[in-house]
Amino acid sequence: MSTIFSQIVEGEIPARIVYEDETTVAFLDANPLAPGHTLVIPKDEYERLNDVPDDIATDLYATVHRMVPVVEDAVDADATTVAFNNGEEAGQEVPHVHCHIVPRFEGDGGGPIHAVAGDRPSLADDELDDIADDIESRV
Ligand code: 5GP
Repeated sequence: MSTIFSQIVEGEIPARIVYEDETTVAFLDANPLAPGHTLVIPKDEYERLNDVPDDIATDLYATVHRMVPVVEDAVDADATTVAFNNGEEAGQEVPHVHCHIVPRFEGDGGGPIHAVAGDRPSLADDELDDIADDIESRV
């Protein structure tokens, strides 16, 4: 069973496609958070960013990079929030990697990325050092 976004890629369900190339496609979100809310996806189905091969990740970011200023210009936005919900616990509902480009306007009542997480942890310096070391050792 393919994802709803794969069905858009295949032309099986309609979408307002605004850009397409060999490996990626951008289309308007059907339930927009703001005028111009655009989704950018890899055409192939990967559930999470962690699953995307390097070459497709490069293509995906290139399309995001291309679309952000275009979307801002199109709706005369002051700014954009650009984000992935990467995994169900982070709010991802469609299991097909997608980048949200959400136009933002002065006084729109929205919040920053900092508002998406729960309570902030209180971490001591040695805990932060351990986390940084652990991440660095895995790269
Ligand atoms: P998520 O919560 O997975 O990060 O976001 C999924 C997004 O896909 C939502 O913003 C939702 O409005 C959008 N969406 C869900 N189904 C469709 C669809 O069939 N067509 C389009 N264009 N957008 C969809």
